[in-house]
Amino acid sequence: MNVRDSEHLFAELSTRADYDRTDRPEEADLILINTCSVREKPVSKLFSELGQYNRIKKPEAKLGVCGCTASHLGESILKRAPYVNFVLGARNVSKIVDIAQRDKAVEIDLDHDESTYHFSEHRSSPYQALVNISIGCDKECTYCIVPHTRGSEVSIPPKLIIDEIKRAVDRGALEVMLLGQNVNNYGRRFSGPEARIDFPELLEQISRIEGLERIRFQSPHPLHMDDRFLEVFAHNEKIVKHMHMPLQSGSTAILRAMKRGYSREWFLERAARLRQMVPGVTIGTDIIVAFPGESDRDFEQTLDVMRQVAFEQVFSFKYSPRPLTKAAQMPGAIDNQEASARLAILQALHREQLSMAMAAQVGTTQRVLFESQEGEWVLGRGDNFYLIKAPADKAAKGEIRSVQIVMADRGALIGTQVA
Ligand code: SAH
Ligand code: SF4
Repeated sequence: MNVRDSEHLFAELSTRADYDRTDRPEEADLILINTCSVREKPVSKLFSELGQYNRIKKPEAKLGVCGCTASHLGESILKRAPYVNFVLGARNVSKIVDIAQRDKAVEIDLDHDESTYHFSEHRSSPYQALVNISIGCDKECTYCIVPHTRGSEVSIPPKLIIDEIKRAVDRGALEVMLLGQNVNNYGRRFSGPEARIDFPELLEQISRIEGLERIRFQSPHPLHMDDRFLEVFAHNEKIVKHMHMPLQSGSTAILRAMKRGYSREWFLERAARLRQMVPGVTIGTDIIVAFPGESDRDFEQTLDVMRQVAFEQVFSFKYSPRPLTKAAQMPGAIDNQEASARLAILQALHREQLSMAMAAQVGTTQRVLFESQEGEWVLGRGDNFYLIKAPADKAAKGEIRSVQIVMADRGALIGTQVA
């Protein structure tokens, strides 16, 4: 989502004002830092980066802070780094051209509605189009700062989404990645009187776009994975057979404290149903270790869910207390050393599971969209998300080809027979 926001920032500046892009900060007239605030680390990095850019930039060049940390810290960024010219929060991206001309300006309105704004066009990848389908988030996961930085959830009207994808396809995109904090909650609220459709219907409509080959989406919420959604996912051939199912914890007690809205049993049942309905599906997840009050038994339950589901992709994090969140006030903080130990155990289990899952891919044939080249290899993602390499003399960037996998090697599958 941040990558898409950056594309929008650049698109607006280059189309509606006279900006072009440079990789040399010392030559820039405007430097934007787009920020995340989900965990604490990127926030501290922001201020050291700001100091660095301030030292090397041209004296008249402007410096702006955008994104979630801008929403969260607002005016206080100007106090701590007085040389910053403006602060532009997530969900206020469309104001970039205006704010870039002002000084000491702060635009962080959480109620600002960009769901019907027609952003200018810019895409960093010629093959994959990132497309927002909703903004904000209505959940209240107790560890999460996102609802406080991106505001409440509004769906983008289906017509805007479809038109945007058609334009991207006309320009050569083969794959679309639909973006939202809760994509499968799509359609709950629009800002205008649109025809109301839900996520499965949106997927069906998008899949009818001619020339579009693959559909991905990020992130769905396990709570909204009902049968109808799983049916469309299973049967629509354009939808890539990789599902992100953010678990967060395998303990029902911790899930309740996190306010995730589902139990361990619900998650396990949905994951099993998904594996049964979609042979060959890969499942990714996000897990937080050392949430306040997480006992050894709770943690063991998370490992147990991992053993049962055998996720092919795991993003794992140590709990990071965030301002404005309920969990930041909860007792039972876990010692940092213990948190690191739990993370290491979890990651070791995942490595072991992943190498087994990848070895099991040898001999299969995968449909790959090649997106980059490294020396004699072209690289791309298979329909089930694995990174796949093939010899560059047999396939080219921008092609979708079938590849027979001959070996698994350090995070990638390698194929030599390309059809
Ligand atoms: N809307 C998405 C998540 C966006 S944040 C979803 O619900 O899946 C991405 C991931 O960051 C979350 O899934 C969670 O695992 C992690 N995360 C969020 N807040 C965190 C915190 N305070 N500490 C550690 N990890 C966190
Ligand atoms: Fe954060 Fe939960 Fe919303 Fe995801 S669903 S953005 S974790 S509050």
